[in-house]
Amino acid sequence: MPKVAVLTGAGISAESGIPTFRGKDGLWKRFKPEELATPEAFFRNPKLVWEWYDYRRQLIARAEPNEGHKILARMERELPDFTLITQNVDGLHQKAGSEKVIELHGNIWKVRCLSCGAEYYDYRAPLPEIPPRCKHCGGLVRPGVVWFGEPLPPEALEQAFNAARESDYFIVVGTSAVVYPAAQLPFVAKEYGATVIEVNPEETPVTRIADLSLREKASTGLKKVYEMLKEHAQG
Ligand code: NAD
Ligand code: ZN
Repeated sequence: MPKVAVLTGAGISAESGIPTFRGKDGLWKRFKPEELATPEAFFRNPKLVWEWYDYRRQLIARAEPNEGHKILARMERELPDFTLITQNVDGLHQKAGSEKVIELHGNIWKVRCLSCGAEYYDYRAPLPEIPPRCKHCGGLVRPGVVWFGEPLPPEALEQAFNAARESDYFIVVGTSAVVYPAAQLPFVAKEYGATVIEVNPEETPVTRIADLSLREKASTGLKKVYEMLKEHAQG
């Protein structure tokens, strides 16, 4: 049985109506990341940053997983050795039924208290008060996501790199592959002998090392990948 690892980015949620960052209609076209997704921005203006997150949380709360998320959940159930790594913070993989998701950039529903350190999920959208306050101590909380300039959670990172090194197939879906270290994963997989498959309507830096590039949306592209893997598994 082949070992399969998948890396997803914002593009997998595009068909659920959640804007990507860098593609056409990307969020960063209207907002500057350095003004919003950095620790400096947060300490300068927690209210502004929280308003942006509250807006995204409301969008995500209304969104449903699409066929792409669902096929990946099915792969997890059917393939004995399967790893799903995501850069997304929207939780739609879990909503589609994926049980083991390596979240490299955190989760938009998580909050972390800057006073007492408590970390918990808060699914309220819209938030009743901005910025929100810690439910334990009343301190200022921040979104439980990784911002520009911050380190990634070490355990998730280690699991992701192990999966990349061990995989027979490494599938890259809907990521512009420019945000490091996540963008490194397909290159590591390739170096360690994996067959790299890319699903993205646009070319990315991964395209030139991919063994197969499907210039397609996640839903249709992943369906083809699923059929291929099934054939491989049946020998
Ligand atoms: P990105 O915006 O940089 O790139 C999105 C990619 O998806 C582009 O290459 C685009 O061509 C492709 N794409 C667009 N529609 C697609 C579709 N229907 N099917 C497949 N691919 C499609 O996103 P990224 O590479 O994930 O950027 C990294 C950062 O953006 C991460 O830190 C992530 O946390 C953050 N982000 C997350 C979300 C989310 O959780 N949904 C949304 C926006 C950004
Ligand atoms: Zn607290």
